[in-house]
Amino acid sequence: MLKIGITGGIGSGKSIVSNIFKSIGIPVFDADQAAKNIMNEDANVKNKLIKAFGSEVFVDGKLNRQYLANIVFTDTYALEKLNAIVHPATIKAGLQWAEKQNSPYILREAALLFEAGSAADLDFIIGVYAPQHIRIQRVMKRDGTSRQEVLNRMSKQIDEEIKMKLCDFVIINDGQKELIPQVIDLHKIFLEKAKAK
Ligand code: ADP
Repeated sequence: MLKIGITGGIGSGKSIVSNIFKSIGIPVFDADQAAKNIMNEDANVKNKLIKAFGSEVFVDGKLNRQYLANIVFTDTYALEKLNAIVHPATIKAGLQWAEKQNSPYILREAALLFEAGSAADLDFIIGVYAPQHIRIQRVMKRDGTSRQEVLNRMSKQIDEEIKMKLCDFVIINDGQKELIPQVIDLHKIFLEKAKAK
């Protein structure tokens, strides 16, 4: 089975593109959602988070996202610590999930793919690209957040132009180019690649 990553900055349209793949029957592992579940449920990860960031990181057993966000958005070292705790468990969960799927290929969707070091396990990577001004507008509308907040979140991610150069395929989601034909073209390519593997 081929393992394909799908990445792109916040607001690029990863979720929309992943949903199109899902609608044609391709299983998608949402790594960002899995990471959230792991932080709330995996006892080993929870213990490590408490050791690294203090007991305030959980309130009534639930992750205190605001507290954690405040720490990691102001301290790069803390962000690296958080990633070092959560990413290995998320990668493992993704591999276990993949083993249970019955499909010529599967997708792993993640905002941070290169940053998280999980790109190494993947056969190909799709980048979803949208210009920054469009991404900002989309996220402000989707999440009801301020421009500054969106810019803060973006500043923690690798520059999009660089990220797209690291991808094997790029889907353009600039609101002009149609998405479905681009997905179908890639689907055909992946089916061929899966046959050849
Ligand atoms: P990501 O998962 O990369 O953060 P999403 O797929 O959630 O991005 O897209 C961000 C927001 O922009 C969502 O509300 C989505 O509905 C909207 N969006 C994405 N692509 C398009 C598009 N081509 N046309 C209109 N709205 C779009």
